[in-house]
Amino acid sequence: MRLLPTPEQAAALEATLRAVNRAANEVSEIAFARKIHAGRDLRRVVYGQVRAAFGLGSQPAQHTIKKVADAYTALRANLRNGTYGPANSPRRLKAESKPISFRPLAAQPFDDRCLSWDHDAQTISIWTSSGRAKNVAFTGSAGQLARLREHRRGESDLLSRDGMWFLLATIEIPDPPLREPAGFLGVDLGIANIATTCPATPPAAAATATPAAGAGLGAARYSGAKLNAVRHRHRELRRRLQAKATKSAQRLLKKRRRKEARFAADTNHVIAKRIVTEAQRTGHGIALEDLQSIRDRVRLRKPQRVTLHSWSFHQLGGFITYKARRAGVAVIHVDPAYTSRQCSACGHTDRHNRPSQATFSCTSCGFAEHADVNAARNIATRGVADWAVSHAADDAA
Ligand SMILES: [Zn+2]
Repeated sequence: MRLLPTPEQAAALEATLRAVNRAANEVSEIAFARKIHAGRDLRRVVYGQVRAAFGLGSQPAQHTIKKVADAYTALRANLRNGTYGPANSPRRLKAESKPISFRPLAAQPFDDRCLSWDHDAQTISIWTSSGRAKNVAFTGSAGQLARLREHRRGESDLLSRDGMWFLLATIEIPDPPLREPAGFLGVDLGIANIATTCPATPPAAAATATPAAGAGLGAARYSGAKLNAVRHRHRELRRRLQAKATKSAQRLLKKRRRKEARFAADTNHVIAKRIVTEAQRTGHGIALEDLQSIRDRVRLRKPQRVTLHSWSFHQLGGFITYKARRAGVAVIHVDPAYTSRQCSACGHTDRHNRPSQATFSCTSCGFAEHADVNAARNIATRGVADWAVSHAADDAA
């Protein structure tokens, strides 16, 4: 939820984050120096001190201590998992050699005692270091507001980004039962087209349905032109600013990077929603490429683009998966090997089937189609087959 505080409220929120994070850094130094790791032990040692020295209420003090304890738990897990490299590696030694530090405006959790929601007025009342801030307005999409009202549970994180204020609220929604899919909508991920969808129905259903084999029937393409233009502009700006390397240039770059990420996430949300709605409307499940092998498939010259797009594909796949689960739509992940070279009409697989980036033309049967639609139909067909196999196993069990 985005908060819309008045200037006075914003100042109080900022002072609050600065106070709790100063406290967190103090607690962190004590935890580090005295090697106290368990949250309970840490609370016993520092609770009184934190309340007195930083003017924190009981709940904010406890949350601050817990935030520090949780950060050390996460650090220990990362050290164990080798995230910082092997023992005695420079990165690992650096991570182990000093207390964890918190940014002045690092996010802070608030529970129901420190934060209350008035959904009708669309305002919150929140604890701040200068007393309770009342009637702080918040906003969100109609869907977000409805879900917040119905399903919010537990703590919310207060955070500040680029001068804006947000509350990350947690919602818990029980999944509706999965509907048995009447065929699958295949989703092909790409760059010129972020996503292309095409349906396929099981052979038995296809015989009774209207002929679904017509070229491109039921296919949809979601263009990446706008997103690619934003990325291109960002790359240009980065090239110009990196030459400067000043502090303000760095800040501007960081802000632009976040803006680009928000735009990409927003685009992915919109596409995911349309795909899930279409699957729901037509009674299809959704077949996605198994993204483990996406790096092999997106063969671009520039490695950073591969990283960028593979990250974006994972995000879109994730959005589709959770939105589908929420709508009772089945999702299946299929092997994406050769989906772009295989003919979706006759099954003939040949790299010459793909004379250009955009066109598919089968050298065996002559079937021609937009390359992404052909790939999406292959993914859908694999979804139908994989679902039948996993279901046969269900029936046998
Ligand atoms: Zn063919």
